Amino acid sequence: MAELSVLSGRKFAKEVRRNLAEKIEKISGRPPGLAVVIVGDDPASRVYVSMKEKACGRVGIVSTAVNLDESVSQEELLQEINKLNESPSVDGILCQLPLPAHISADVVASAILPEKDVDGFHPVNVGRLWRGEDGLFPCTPVGIIALLKHHNIKIDGADAVIVGRSNIVGKPMAALLLRESATVSITHSHTSDLQGLCRKADILIAAVGRPRFITREFVKPGATVIDVGINRTDDGLVGDVDFENVAPICGAITPVPGGVGPLTIAFLLSNTLKSRTNGVVS
Ligand code: NDP
Repeated sequence: MAELSVLSGRKFAKEVRRNLAEKIEKISGRPPGLAVVIVGDDPASRVYVSMKEKACGRVGIVSTAVNLDESVSQEELLQEINKLNESPSVDGILCQLPLPAHISADVVASAILPEKDVDGFHPVNVGRLWRGEDGLFPCTPVGIIALLKHHNIKIDGADAVIVGRSNIVGKPMAALLLRESATVSITHSHTSDLQGLCRKADILIAAVGRPRFITREFVKPGATVIDVGINRTDDGLVGDVDFENVAPICGAITPVPGGVGPLTIAFLLSNTLKSRTNGVVS
């Protein structure tokens, strides 16, 4: 069997950011602008928002944080989003999840202009994704496709299995793999014979939210294993894949941390540039 390849998202994200910074420097007129709306005080959300702001600064994107109190009403939040929709200096808008229970994430996603929807959650962008049209698509799956291509991992004709069917990761991942002509299975908590299906995968994507859920019994020898999971445990940050157990038998694998996470932010920046240039990123 070929030697194991650990796919470093951190390293690739650095390259993506360097590329973006060069493109942004050449833009005539104002730099791209990203507005990040955050509701409440969730510590993990604050960390993510501050990472996004830092990443923006490093490539020349102007980021604006809109901090709203936990008690803000849905109507007030929609008004804030409207202001950002109308602002000529804001190209991308995202609302950090999770939102408080009294606010519908779906309503909020639909309120952001599709052209500024850098998370790719607006129904128009979801439709464009599944129809094979151009649009703004969710950053995590977009980053994963780019990583696979960067490492020349064959997607066309591959059997791809995704564990997880969320709107943020699982479903858009399936749509993007399908666009690349993989044969795609989406699995979830009701799937019978999950291990058997996963063991057929040339590309196995774990987006389950359960620490070290995927063990070697799920993995075909030589497969590429992409670990989307971010789980905070007593042992620190761990993925959905039991890395130590799986790595010896697979062909390629992403680590946690340093795998998919950095790509998500890099491709958020890429989506913001895409919005600024009306989809034209040369
Ligand atoms: P969700 O909780 O929305 O979805 C989890 C999915 O896993 C569901 O579809 C669920 O099935 C499925 N699932 C749960 N238990 C099982 C099981 N025993 N067998 C089979 N399927 C199961 O999570 P997300 O998609 O939002 O996130 C998944 C993970 O990825 C999390 O750890 C999250 O933190 C991480 N994440 C990481 C990102 C990054 O940048 N690296 C970005 C986004 C997420 P069902 O639908 O039937 O309930």
